[in-house]
Amino acid sequence: MVMKVALVGIGKIARDQHVPSIAGSADWELAATVSHQGTVDGVEAFADLDTLLSVRPDIEVISLCLPPVPRFRYAAAALRAGRHVMLEKPPGATVAECHALEAMARNAGVSLFAAWHSREALEVQRAKSWLKNSQLQSLKVTWKEDVRRWHPGQEWIWKTGGLGVFDPGVNALSIVTEILPDPIHLNAAVLEFPENCETPIAAKLSFSHPQEAAVSAEFDWRQEGEQTWMIEAETDSGRMVMSDGGAVISIDGQPAPEPDTDGSALTGEYPRLYARMAALVRAGEIDMDLSPMVHVADAFLLGKRITVAPFHE
Ligand code: NAP
Repeated sequence: MVMKVALVGIGKIARDQHVPSIAGSADWELAATVSHQGTVDGVEAFADLDTLLSVRPDIEVISLCLPPVPRFRYAAAALRAGRHVMLEKPPGATVAECHALEAMARNAGVSLFAAWHSREALEVQRAKSWLKNSQLQSLKVTWKEDVRRWHPGQEWIWKTGGLGVFDPGVNALSIVTEILPDPIHLNAAVLEFPENCETPIAAKLSFSHPQEAAVSAEFDWRQEGEQTWMIEAETDSGRMVMSDGGAVISIDGQPAPEPDTDGSALTGEYPRLYARMAALVRAGEIDMDLSPMVHVADAFLLGKRITVAPFHE
């Protein structure tokens, strides 16, 4: 049966990914939007969520595409109204508010999904299977991109709660926490804050690993030219390199074979996220894995802060 979903926050990610993924799925109908200014052709538009919740009881699922800070209030209102909720990454502005949302969803008996889109990148599950059978010696994340290219005009990313370079960095951490068979925890970090910003533009992290593998990450938003979203792992059975944010993998320099699909497999991260949300709603389940966000919170707790040159767009 087709489920009705409303999108809240018609910004970059809603337009680039959510709207086309919903339109391309047999599971979903985009039934309404909530936005201060954006609309989607042919879809009923509301200026506020409370009105939608009161006049459209037929819309079962609310998908929130807002920046992290305002998200809790919207998610809580939707859960209180008995709706299933899908959360863009990161699932909230604080770890505690995410726990609060999970408790509310359990009490209400509705589904809640912390959607980590990078975990749906093409080669993430292959990397996970390969690492399961290997002894990890080191893992290095390099996530370097040009903030001016990917986040033009987005002031919220430079304000508290906007995460700065951890906005893309948490994507890398969502892959790392998915593919590593053992849990890691942060043991040191250095965060570089532009003198005119409330969030960091670069960060270096190191982690403790149960078998003492050297696990580290470097995030930088000042990279011009070629962009790098790479995870390199050395193991007792060889070297694995994931690039393009998890879309490409090679093992000992050999590219992985084409994925073995029957042609019906979903292509793209967001179609897979919406398929997962449909499955969660049908099964009455919650998927609220906060492990990527815990590492970000720990980096803000433990990280040494350095002030660097101001950032001007
Ligand atoms: P965006 O375009 O800057 O903002 C999204 C929309 O949220 C805005 O257009 C606005 O929608 C609404 N909004 C902004 N500030 C608000 C506030 N204070 N209160 C209520 N609504 C507010 O951001 P985005 O790039 O789409 O990112 C949104 C989320 O998606 C972030 O958590 C981000 O990490 C995640 N994400 C982004 C990308 C990407 O490539 N940009 C990729 C993956 C995930 P209305 O004008 O319609 O109200």
